[in-house]
Amino acid sequence: MRYVSTRGGMPPKKFSKILLGGLASDGGLAMPETYPEISPALLDEWRGLSYQELAFEIISRFATDIPVADLRNIVGRTYTPALFNNEEVTPLKTLEPGLHILGLSNGPTLAFKDIAMQLLGNLFEYTLAKTGEVLNILGATSGDTGPSAEYAMRGKRGLRVFMLSPQGKMSHFQTAQMFSLQDPNIFNIAIQGVFDDCQDIVKAVSNDYGFKQRYRIGTVNSINWARIAAQIVYYFKGYFAATHSSTEQVSFAVPSGNFGNICAGHVARMMGLPIRKLILATNENEVLDEFFRTGCYRPRATAETVHTSSPSMDISKASNFERFIFDLTGRDAGKVKELWRAVDKGGAFDLAGSPLWEKVKDFGFVSGTSNHQARIATICKIYEQYGQLVDPHTADGLKVGMEYREAGVPLICLETALPVKFSESIVEAIGHEPTRPAGYENLESLPQRYVVMNADTDAVKAFVVEQTSRPAE
Ligand SMILES: *Cc1c(COP(=O)(O)O)cnc(C)c1O
Repeated sequence: MRYVSTRGGMPPKKFSKILLGGLASDGGLAMPETYPEISPALLDEWRGLSYQELAFEIISRFATDIPVADLRNIVGRTYTPALFNNEEVTPLKTLEPGLHILGLSNGPTLAFKDIAMQLLGNLFEYTLAKTGEVLNILGATSGDTGPSAEYAMRGKRGLRVFMLSPQGKMSHFQTAQMFSLQDPNIFNIAIQGVFDDCQDIVKAVSNDYGFKQRYRIGTVNSINWARIAAQIVYYFKGYFAATHSSTEQVSFAVPSGNFGNICAGHVARMMGLPIRKLILATNENEVLDEFFRTGCYRPRATAETVHTSSPSMDISKASNFERFIFDLTGRDAGKVKELWRAVDKGGAFDLAGSPLWEKVKDFGFVSGTSNHQARIATICKIYEQYGQLVDPHTADGLKVGMEYREAGVPLICLETALPVKFSESIVEAIGHEPTRPAGYENLESLPQRYVVMNADTDAVKAFVVEQTSRPAE
């Protein structure tokens, strides 16, 4: 399996060569040249596999240049019932027949991002150890990527993490998860701005090819293909858990921001998983819903990005969306390049009325939005009706998912975080705090370690230079 850029300017590369990089050198995103095809017969064979076995089957089709025994070992060490606090890793919770929640948030930071990030941590360490190289990870987080990356990379040899987060925009719990880490290879940078400012700095640094090479900059943001590959696994696992035979179809409801999670669902569907609908849910930041309703993709400026009570979806430039458009155009890199010429200048594109817009429906996407009131009402309703407490992001997914629910088609709503991460909203919905999992009781009172900076690329670069010139731990 080799990887090409969505903008056509990268010679095909192997998995290990794109693993440590961020954007391709032409500003595009890495994509596999073709998708592996999973036949109905193979689906039947996979139905009985454990999470670890299934993960190996799927990831090995993308990571073809890692020796099989090594990959099996890495996958086995990553998806342990102990780390994910559950025998099934991603247990399916049935609310009523045909309505399910797929539990993706039992990892160390209590959000679905652990599933991809824990694998990434082990893959990075493995690859770096082979070459004796180091990697400085520069990331941006709106709340869940940061903790997840830091917990996956802390104490790992050859790795440092520089994580940008919008100051004061995350929940106290999320902030404490990151800032309380005292590991010397972890650097928290609180940016005076919103998430998109943080993401823009990461992009600007990644686009400075010289700097990126000299300071060995890598990324863990959702544009990293290995994260998408890891996330494909639970679409299969959820499908098997909710069906009896591989002739059945299911629909997935996905709380979305950067389009990373649902992109994995799109790839699973392209590989042959019988997915009827991919239901994309946004919060008040409805850029993606606007596209799937109207054909117009208009990323918003920072000032137009609203801070909401599902903050991990406060995103108005969906970095993985380009991957879907690449497939939509029939993998026409020239067309993608043309469309993003406008987007990269702060503009928009509109497919309405074009043949491409007609094709969108063939990919199974539908969309809807949620807002604070709907989110709180959904948390309350699901709690009263089914005795299940969900977090605000999962509630957005459930809210929109229910609007598209069809008789006879199992609906699987992806749980993207646990309620304890967002207790302010839970209290508002049900009048009391969610119970805390063991080990998280005093999180917010632990000492915190971070620096504050303006939304200034040069300042961030200078900090990276300063820290990386110290002797490695
Ligand atoms: C990251 C995140 C999302 C959005 O996922 P994308 O892959 O960015 O679309 C939704 N909910 C939670 C809790 C998250 O952490």
